[in-house]
Amino acid sequence: MPSKDPYEVLGVSRSADADEIKSAYRRLARRYHPDVNPNDPSAEEKFKEVGAAYSVLSDPTKRARFDQTGSTDDAPQDPFFGGGNISDLFDVFFGAGNGGGGGGRRRVGRDGEDARVDLQLTLSEVITGIQTEVTVNRKATCTSCNGTGVEGGKAPETCTTCRGQGQVSTVRNTFIGQVRTSAPCPTCHGNGTVIKDPCKACKGRAVIPETAKVNVTIPPGFDDGATLHVPGQGSDGVGEGRPGDLYVVLQIANDRRFQRHGQTLYTILESTFAQATLGDRVEIEGVDDTFELTVPAGTQPGTQIAIKGAGLPPLHGGRRGDLVVQVNVKVPQKLSDAEVKLIREFAELRGEAVPKGDEKGGILGGLFHKKR
Ligand SMILES: [Zn+2]
Ligand SMILES: [Zn+2]
Repeated sequence: MPSKDPYEVLGVSRSADADEIKSAYRRLARRYHPDVNPNDPSAEEKFKEVGAAYSVLSDPTKRARFDQTGSTDDAPQDPFFGGGNISDLFDVFFGAGNGGGGGGRRRVGRDGEDARVDLQLTLSEVITGIQTEVTVNRKATCTSCNGTGVEGGKAPETCTTCRGQGQVSTVRNTFIGQVRTSAPCPTCHGNGTVIKDPCKACKGRAVIPETAKVNVTIPPGFDDGATLHVPGQGSDGVGEGRPGDLYVVLQIANDRRFQRHGQTLYTILESTFAQATLGDRVEIEGVDDTFELTVPAGTQPGTQIAIKGAGLPPLHGGRRGDLVVQVNVKVPQKLSDAEVKLIREFAELRGEAVPKGDEKGGILGGLFHKKR
């Protein structure tokens, strides 16, 4: 079999990078695979050509040799046994890569990729919502070629294989009659156009990487890990391709003072034994305000007191949840002799059994000490 130009076979430009070559190969191998085209010798022939072309272009040494000499002599004729990567071939049949044709007229071109940024916000920003600027790494239409991908900004030539349609249809005879299938054009990858003189700035890709500032409006009440969808702020598309979208993943900065459960915030009040016993008025720090809280006399450890409306709003705003204050009662430690005396008297006054104390304290001997 005489060797053909592998770039032509795969329908890629001479400056195509490894990803472009691989995806062109996958598309074509899927299209011409003998299982998909039984009893079609021309498809089988094409399938072998595609495999041979890929084995040259996927190998930097062979590719360089071809670029210099125009020879693919070393290229194996059968992709299954060639130097190509078998796993690449399996990918073709197990769903990796782009989906196939599908019905209706395709938009000619390539959609832009989606972009993602992570944004860390505070709890008070959850209450108010914010407008902010995020930095997005994406691809923008190349200004050197105005997104045509052709040096000098000329229009790319209409693909002769598909006459600019971006897809080709094949009619096959099957046992149920003639079946028409459409597939992306192998020559132009569905672009409808071919670039013979690629733009140097973007290497014919029509887009170049950029770092952009994008204004986003974050509504109040979002959850940790929520994603804001900003349509059209991803990478620019090529040709009639649509721009990608931007996804802003929201993280709420850790605030040790609060725990969040939906719209309810929880905070802990460390109260003294005296405060919990006698009652008190204390200041509680909320997210965006300070509250005076009455601790009723006789508050038990673990008691929860709600401050209405000091929690978080529902998504997009509305009546706020509560801030729940959980009262911890600190039992006094390291008592002086005078304090010990008072507490014993206190117990006596209340008619309680006077505790024996532990051995470490040396007060009255251990609570659990062994009997002699
Ligand atoms: Zn360009
Ligand atoms: Zn085409």
